[in-house]
Amino acid sequence: MNASLPLQRVKTALLDLLFPLRCFGCGSEGSLLCPSCSRTLPRLELPFCQRCGMPYTEGNLCPACLSYPLSIDGIRSVFLFKGTARQAVLQFKYRHLKAAAEPLGQLMADFLRSNPLTGEVIVPVPLHPRRLRRRGYNQASLLAIEVGRLSGLPVVEGALVRVRDTVSQARSASAAERRSNVHGAFECPQGLHGVKVLLIDDVCTTGATLDACAAALKAAGAASIWGLTTARETLSASSSATVENRGSDSIKYYVL
Ligand SMILES: [Zn+2]
Ligand SMILES: [Zn+2]
Repeated sequence: MNASLPLQRVKTALLDLLFPLRCFGCGSEGSLLCPSCSRTLPRLELPFCQRCGMPYTEGNLCPACLSYPLSIDGIRSVFLFKGTARQAVLQFKYRHLKAAAEPLGQLMADFLRSNPLTGEVIVPVPLHPRRLRRRGYNQASLLAIEVGRLSGLPVVEGALVRVRDTVSQARSASAAERRSNVHGAFECPQGLHGVKVLLIDDVCTTGATLDACAAALKAAGAASIWGLTTARETLSASSSATVENRGSDSIKYYVL
């Protein structure tokens, strides 16, 4: 298996030469997130709902969490889904920029170091097999692998399977619509009895997807489930999910 590693390195070096990485924020060459743009990414900071992690100023729990208690123990996100963080996630997800998993996963692992969440294994939110074939990779898995590598936590691929290919969540969908859309969409075929799980995904909007995963994990006996996502989208601040061009077409990307 390792015999392909040198070849992969040569391939990566050649691609770097042909298509130098450019910063999501400022377009400068050399990396996908330059140190300056990395420092100024829009972090999600308090106050937020202690359960679902949504920005919220009126108390510990937002109205949605008070009226509809989640199965998941809590959700945290590193960034708000806007600006450079939004660009990075969208290009990672929809433009096959798999190399983005490394800087984004590193930022998630950094977050975990300073904001520890309960979890002894990492489980990525799965894609439905049909969608996985179409995209070629599961962005949540790539993030999970990076976070696992840096945190030392084992990644359990296949702990969850998506048994229903849910329709893409419309940006206008309410929290209730999102819940019913993903209800029963996941199953946990692997025994995770008594295991503390850290779920990983790229974006959280209402928490409905992570919560549906948590319900399946809890039914399989998991002891606790926390969710960590790169970014947090809020319904009111939502907008088109298309990848924006940043003024020029200078941002290059490649598929590895
Ligand atoms: Zn930059
Ligand atoms: Zn909440």
